[in-house]
Amino acid sequence: MIVHRGATASPGFASGTAARYEQPDLQFTPTEAVTVETEVQRLKNAASSAVNELTALQESVRGRLGDDFAHIFRSQQTIAEDDAILAEVVEVITETVVSAETALTRVFDAYTSMFNDLADDDYNKSRGADIHDVYRRILRCLLGVPEISLSSMEPGSIVIAEDLLPSDTATLDTEHVMALVTERGGPTSHVAILSRNLGIPAAVAVQGVLDGIQNGDAVVLDATDPGHAFLVVNPDVAKRSELLQRAETYRLRQERSAAYIGRQPVTSDGHAIEFSVNIGSTAELGPAREAGARSVGLYRSEFLFLNSSRLPDEQEQFEAYRAAVERFSDGYVVVRTLDIGGDKQVAGLPLPAEDNPFLGNRGLRLCLSLPELFRTQVRAVLRASAFGDLRLMFPMVAGLNELEEAMQIIAEERKGLDALGTVYNPTMQVGVMIEVPSAVLLADELAKRVDFFSIGTNDLTQYLLAADRLNERVARYYRKFDPAIFRAVLQVVQAAHRHECWVGICGELGGDPRAVPALMGLGVDELSMSKGALAEATYAICTSDYGAVLRLADRVIRAETDAEIEGFLTDYYQGKE
Ligand code: PEP
Ligand code: MG
Repeated sequence: MIVHRGATASPGFASGTAARYEQPDLQFTPTEAVTVETEVQRLKNAASSAVNELTALQESVRGRLGDDFAHIFRSQQTIAEDDAILAEVVEVITETVVSAETALTRVFDAYTSMFNDLADDDYNKSRGADIHDVYRRILRCLLGVPEISLSSMEPGSIVIAEDLLPSDTATLDTEHVMALVTERGGPTSHVAILSRNLGIPAAVAVQGVLDGIQNGDAVVLDATDPGHAFLVVNPDVAKRSELLQRAETYRLRQERSAAYIGRQPVTSDGHAIEFSVNIGSTAELGPAREAGARSVGLYRSEFLFLNSSRLPDEQEQFEAYRAAVERFSDGYVVVRTLDIGGDKQVAGLPLPAEDNPFLGNRGLRLCLSLPELFRTQVRAVLRASAFGDLRLMFPMVAGLNELEEAMQIIAEERKGLDALGTVYNPTMQVGVMIEVPSAVLLADELAKRVDFFSIGTNDLTQYLLAADRLNERVARYYRKFDPAIFRAVLQVVQAAHRHECWVGICGELGGDPRAVPALMGLGVDELSMSKGALAEATYAICTSDYGAVLRLADRVIRAETDAEIEGFLTDYYQGKE
C-alpha cells in the first residue's frame, strides 16, 4: 500500500482502477520501404483508420458535450480525408522508395510549418495545429500504437497523469472517468477548475504519483478535505475500512447541503447575498441550472477557444452567449473576454513562449494586442445582449489605460452595429476583474468607470503574495486565507460602494463554504462559484444570522496570519454541524 498526498482540486471521493495517461511515444526508425505497393497500402489503411477514429470521436463528443466540442474533430477529419495530401505522400513513397512513416512525416512537416509560418493569420495557425494532430493520429495508426484518450477510458478509471491540458479534459468521458490525479498543477489551475465544473473529484500536485503505479492498480482518492487530498494505492483491509468511513461522513455532509439546492442564500434574519455559477461552455448550462444557479457570474469564454484547434468565429460565439443568456433568462450572465496566456494556451492560437507568462501578454493585454480577435468577441457579446441580461467583463486589468482602450473599442463596435442596424442592449453592464494588486489600489478610479467588479482571488492571491498559482514548490506560500487577501477584498468593496458599483468574487475562495459567511460580512454583493459548491455555500448562509457573519468578518480583518483566519473560519463552519 502506498499513500500519496496532494492538494484537493475538486472535492469528492472515488474508488477505482488506475489508468496512466501518457502520450504514446511515436518514434520510428526510417527504414527503406520493402516494396512501394506495401507502403502505399499501409498508408491507405492507416489513413482510413484515422478517419474512422475521428468519426467515432465526433459522435461521442457531440452526444456528451455538444457541437462546440465536436467540431474539433470534424475539421481534423476533413484533413485526414484530403485526397490531395494523401496523393503527395504516395508520390514521395513512389519516387524516393521510403517507408510510409518517412513519407508521411516529410509531407506533413512541410504543411505544418507552412501554416505556422503564416504567423499573422489566426486561421492558418490553427490549421497548422490541426494538421499536426492529424499527422500524429495517422502515424500512430501506422505504428499500430493504440490510442490513449480521456474519451475512451475503461469504466471505473482514475486517471493518473503528469499534467493534463484543458483540451485533454474537454473530451473526458465523465461516465467512465471517476477522478483525475496529476503530478503537476495547483488547485486554481484550469484543469482543476474544469474538473470542478464537471463535478469530478481531482487532486493536483501529487508529487511522484506516476512512479511505481501500474495500470489496473486499485486506487482510492480521498479529496473530501478542501485542503489536502490523498491517493491510496492498493489499500489494505484496515485502510479500506477507514476510507469507507470517511466516504460515508462526506456523503452525509453532501446530503445535508443537498436540501439547500435552489434556495436563496438568505441569513436566518433575512439578509440576502447573490450566488451565481462559473461556467466555460454551452454544455454546462443545463447542469448549472439543475444545481440551482440563477445567474452566471463568470463565463470563462476562453474555454470556447481552448477546446478547439480552430478559433470560433463571431457567429459561433454569438450563439454560445445567446444560449447562455436565454437559459438564464431570469438572471444575468457575465461573459469574461478571452483570458488566455499564463497557463491557458490555445491550440488555435499558438503564442510565443514567454519567460514569465503570468506577468506577460495575458488576459486583456493579449486581446488589445490582437484587436481583430477582441473586436470579434465584443461584437458577438453585444449582439447576444439583445437576448437577455448579458454583461461583459475584462480580465487582468491593471490600470485605467487598458480599461479606456477596451471601452473605446466597445464604443466603436457599438457604432458599427448601429450602422448595420443590428440590435444590442445599449445599457449592457460592463465590469472588470480585480485580480492585479494595482487594481485594488485604483479601485475608486476604476469603479467610477464601470458597473461592477468581480474579484479574481485566484490570480489576486498569486500576485499579492508573489507565489505562482501553479508551482507546487511554492504552494505553501500561495496562502488562500492570507490576511492580505481579505483586507484587499474589504478595500475593494468599500471603494466600489462609494461609486454605486457592485462587487462579486469569482475566484475559488468565493466557493469555499468556510469563507462564504466572512465574505458576506465584508460586504461582497455576489459570490460566483462552481456548481458543486452552491449547495454547501447556501447552507452556510441560511444557517447563519447576520450579526454572526459581521462579527466573523471583523475577526478576519483584524487577524494577522492565515492560520488564525483558517482557524476562525473552520471553527465557525464546524460550529454549525
Ligand atoms: C481568478 O483569477 O480568480 C479567476 C476567477 O480567473 P481565472 O482563475 O480564470 O484566472
Ligand atoms: Mg484570473
